[in-house]
Amino acid sequence: MEKKRVAIVGAGVSGLAACKHLLERGCTPAVFEADTLLGGVWARAPDCTSLQSERPMYQYSDFPWPDSVTEVFPSRRQVADYLKAYARHFGVLDCVRFGHRVLGMEYVGVGEGEVAAWEEWAGCGDAFGDGVGEWRLTVADADDHVETHVADFVVICIGRFSGVPNIPTFPPGKGPEAFDGQVIHTMDYSKMGTKKASEMLKGKRVTVIGYLKSALDVAAECAELNGTQHPCTMVVRTKHWIIPGYYAWGFPISNLCLNRFSEFLIHKPGEGFLLSLLATILTPLRWLFSKFAESYYSIPMRKHAMVPDHSLFEALATCLIAITPKDHYKRLDEGSIVIKKSKTFSFCKEGVLVEGASSPIKSDVVIFGTGFRGDQKIKDMFVSEYFQSIAVGPASSTVPLYRLFHYISFLYIASLQL
Ligand SMILES: Cc1cc2nc3c(=O)[nH]c(=O)nc-3n(C[C@H](O)[C@H](O)[C@H](O)COP(=O)(O)OP(=O)(O)OC[C@H]3O[C@@H](n4cnc5c(N)ncnc54)[C@H](O)[C@@H]3O)c2cc1C
Repeated sequence: MEKKRVAIVGAGVSGLAACKHLLERGCTPAVFEADTLLGGVWARAPDCTSLQSERPMYQYSDFPWPDSVTEVFPSRRQVADYLKAYARHFGVLDCVRFGHRVLGMEYVGVGEGEVAAWEEWAGCGDAFGDGVGEWRLTVADADDHVETHVADFVVICIGRFSGVPNIPTFPPGKGPEAFDGQVIHTMDYSKMGTKKASEMLKGKRVTVIGYLKSALDVAAECAELNGTQHPCTMVVRTKHWIIPGYYAWGFPISNLCLNRFSEFLIHKPGEGFLLSLLATILTPLRWLFSKFAESYYSIPMRKHAMVPDHSLFEALATCLIAITPKDHYKRLDEGSIVIKKSKTFSFCKEGVLVEGASSPIKSDVVIFGTGFRGDQKIKDMFVSEYFQSIAVGPASSTVPLYRLFHYISFLYIASLQL
């Protein structure tokens, strides 16, 4: 096979695996990594963050976790170390160009109309076939020196849960500009590192917006620091299934919902007649499973009126669940974390105004735990509007994680036959 020039964008879990497999195929990919650290989200998550997947399910099939890691949910440092060990072991580290951000990429040599008519990438159904065009990547280094890198294929591994924060919009005068205190996103919090983050929170009135993984982790760190003296307030728009683990009434729910079989239980974009029929026929099973697990997980939630309105299965299928941080409900009971449910909120001079409250939640620091714009991030990679338009699925997509990237996977990842 003629060696092709391959570029990989991102040195997180996905980029490292892509690089390892390409090395095995005889390629020498260039891995562009904007950060100075390896590991993507695991390089800089808050210290209290740990995996939400059980360890055996979050493992490269060709590189087991070391025996020293025995935790069911390893910490973010353990995950980062594991990824570093993987990269070293397979020679991936040598391919990574740290501090190199890809600003955009363009396919040149073939018109967009022709590309649009191709059934598979490269026009011949083979990713390593004779594509006549080439990708031009504009890459900036840490000193903002910009250069062009040329590749036959590009594997985009930029992740969904980092980079572009999802910040709510506000009417004029009701947003962060109206507030006298500090406003940041959990992304900035993660980048600060433990020491600076603790200094920022210590003794402060902190309000966290959101109720999923990052928001819960930041609230837990805040409650740990400030206790009941300065409770951390969480403003919650949507109640979520936050669960202690993957056992409900002693039954491992991962056997039904986190394996390949569970793929058949949900409707997917572009599915054929048979898969659609199967997902419809299996609807009662989905319902039964959900009710069974919900009856267990909702027990501690009921006390705080935090049982979600949507089903647990739906939450699992869309990856909108979180593993409960240690002592979360204890903290709610003792009052070091206080929940305010509100569909909307706005800022004022003293803090945050929520629905039905006559006075604001007085705050010194407000932290948005409102997630990321993974869709925007991938669109921004392309100069061409056509590529931007096919890069992400519809916003209504049931499965926002990887199936949202259905087309992009088709073009760049599946076609590499990794
Ligand atoms: C707090 C948290 C907990 C999570 N827990 C779990 C879990 O338990 N189980 C699970 O399955 N998933 C979990 N996830 C999802 C997690 O994102 C994935 O598991 C996985 O780490 C994604 O890896 P990735 O390589 O696709 O992306 P990322 O880890 O996001 O890595 C992307 C890399 O691309 C780089 N990059 C981005 N844009 C550019 C650019 N333009 N140029 C150059 N480099 C660029 C970034 O710097 C980053 O290093 C969690 C996510 C978070 C944030």
